[in-house]
Amino acid sequence: VRYAEGKGWYDARVEARGPIAIDPASAVLHYAQEIFEGLKAYHAADGSITMFRPDANAARFRRSAERMAMAQLPEELFLGSLDALVRLDRQWIPTDEGGSLYLRPFMYASEVFLGVKPSSEYLYVVIASPVGAYFKGGVKPVALWVSQEYTRAAPGGTGAAKCGGNYAASLSAQAEASEHGCDQVVFLDGVERRYVDELGGMNVFFVYDDGTLVTPALTGTILPGITRDSVITLARDQGLTVVERPYSFDEWKADAASGRLREAFACGTAAVITPIGRVAWPDGEFTMTGGEVTERLRGELVDIQRGRVADRHGWVHRVS
Ligand code: PMP
Repeated sequence: VRYAEGKGWYDARVEARGPIAIDPASAVLHYAQEIFEGLKAYHAADGSITMFRPDANAARFRRSAERMAMAQLPEELFLGSLDALVRLDRQWIPTDEGGSLYLRPFMYASEVFLGVKPSSEYLYVVIASPVGAYFKGGVKPVALWVSQEYTRAAPGGTGAAKCGGNYAASLSAQAEASEHGCDQVVFLDGVERRYVDELGGMNVFFVYDDGTLVTPALTGTILPGITRDSVITLARDQGLTVVERPYSFDEWKADAASGRLREAFACGTAAVITPIGRVAWPDGEFTMTGGEVTERLRGELVDIQRGRVADRHGWVHRVS
């Protein structure tokens, strides 16, 4: 679907996947005015095709567009485009446990000009691809690298938006994590470099021995994960206390050492909920183990997503 100021949204179409011709002076290539979302479609236990909370992706896409000074795609178009593509591609949805059809809606500035101002033309596209289970042969703990050098987002920046530029800025940190044998980078806040913001592509939770869960508060520098939001709701349903507050790396180290901090886990669309194992930084490392709370939350969330238990929060969207 295309957008032009004064004309609105037009030219909605379905095409076989292939290259998009792009003018060398397209605004997105120079100023990175681009946003995206990621979600999955599944075969549910009752045979229907479902998506998990696409309305939450639509809401985040709207907020990202607002932050990036882009045109607003009507929510019916966002949701309608996903439904239509999933219906068309339904034979590509894997039927194995853990498999899904990954959906990637995105929108970029297509106006042809060189100059730093919001574009007046946009292209909105959705691509789909079958993906296998994230973990083959059981959930594996993730190893984390706490970057001392790089930051992902600063106050007033674009950290809360799902825009391509945030990920470009995180690549060096992710490469640094890989060099140290870690799966994901931990980003500390961009001001004091003390507080845990999030991981390269996941949010993070800390589980205490008194049944309290702590997760970094959404201060504007963290991506408001849809899995994070779902975990908070499910944890409270299970009688756990969830506290959203600043959480420093010093507190993490001290409480892991004293044993008060029992488990920590990462969460996001790709891997759902994953225990955190090794935590390394230039001056040291420690190892955590997963546990019951992480497993129970993961089990319940996956069961809801796959339609195996009652959807009491109305999170499962059926593709008609
Ligand atoms: N933080 C970042 C930086 C991410 O890229 C993602 C993945 N979208 C998340 C958190 C988790 O968000 P969600 O649960 O919506 O996938």
